[in-house]
Amino acid sequence: MKIAVSACLLGENCKYNGGNNYSEKVLSYIQGHDVITVCPEVLGGLSVPREPAEIVGGVVKHKDGTFVDKEFRKGAELALKQIIEEEVELVILQSRSPSCGVNSIYDGTFSGKIISGEGVYARLLKDNNIRVLDVADL
Ligand code: SF4
Repeated sequence: MKIAVSACLLGENCKYNGGNNYSEKVLSYIQGHDVITVCPEVLGGLSVPREPAEIVGGVVKHKDGTFVDKEFRKGAELALKQIIEEEVELVILQSRSPSCGVNSIYDGTFSGKIISGEGVYARLLKDNNIRVLDVADL
């Protein structure tokens, strides 16, 4: 099966703080499959490191108030295009990210509070009938 994975889950240092979310669980799950890694925020032109971002009233903003909704949505579109072109059957995504979160996200107050919701990339994948899985559900 062809699987796409949030790049940070396989150790790419593309997180806002320059780190990653390396997951042994993901590594063992994808054994024997054809795998690509995708970071929609980097695809959208955002730098590493960058300010933390959350979805505030439906719009993605950095903690300093800068609007980055356009970059997030552009990155999600480019990532979706790649997923479709490469005929990916399953996308494994990092939890709580304003791009990749499948079941929950931060609430937009930058206080660490989690609410149910989804990141813009996860939403776009679901809208296009691409199967997604939150890493927490592996
Ligand atoms: S956008 Fe997704 S892949 Fe990129 S660092 Fe954030 S959670 Fe990881």
